[in-house]
Amino acid sequence: MKYILIVEDEPDIQELLRTYLEDAGYKTVTAGDGVEALALFGTRPFDLVLLDLMLPKIDGFSVCELIRQQSQVPVLMLTALDGEEQQLRGFGMDIDDYVTKPFSMPVLLEKIRVILRRRGGAGEESRRLAYRDLSLDLDSREALLAGRPLELTAREFELLHTFLSAPGRVFTREMLLAKLWGYDFYGDERVVDSHIKNLRRKLGRDYIETVRGVGYRAVKEDR
Ligand code: CA
Repeated sequence: MKYILIVEDEPDIQELLRTYLEDAGYKTVTAGDGVEALALFGTRPFDLVLLDLMLPKIDGFSVCELIRQQSQVPVLMLTALDGEEQQLRGFGMDIDDYVTKPFSMPVLLEKIRVILRRRGGAGEESRRLAYRDLSLDLDSREALLAGRPLELTAREFELLHTFLSAPGRVFTREMLLAKLWGYDFYGDERVVDSHIKNLRRKLGRDYIETVRGVGYRAVKEDR
């Protein structure tokens, strides 16, 4: 079963998309603006996001950017005007494809099929991240160390995920706070340090390095 997040503010178009995709055998979740889209995106794994460009509150560009910070889910953009595609590329948007409104439903459906086929391969492979003897399953959110399950809290898992997605890159406490606790977190940056400390203890290995005065990073693998 493939889940599609439909982000569209026009009720008629949203309903049309929902009905059509459900008839085609997809499960859908609908959002009417960018804020709702981001909230719903965190509630379950999606196989594809159908994203309208012009949205209230947060536009499609920003929604796509924020989704990309946490996921490589395929994004199919809905644009109102021909020529916006060039803008999308210009902005360096990491989208999989786009359709221009008004679009034909069969064309849209075919594009969705192509993207899912291209992305899915056999269909059910899980998204994994491997680093040394660590393996993270990004769907089940299970972490294995030398083949054994690690008991991590949600934030510890996210910390590890963040570091391992870019070994060698330094993450400041501010970046980690913003990513894991949200920008409106009000409190002490030392909360990051205590989570790192717990994570290190659970790993039992010095995979996470302190960059003095800056932040933390995963040790690069070739060292
Ligand atoms: Ca719109």
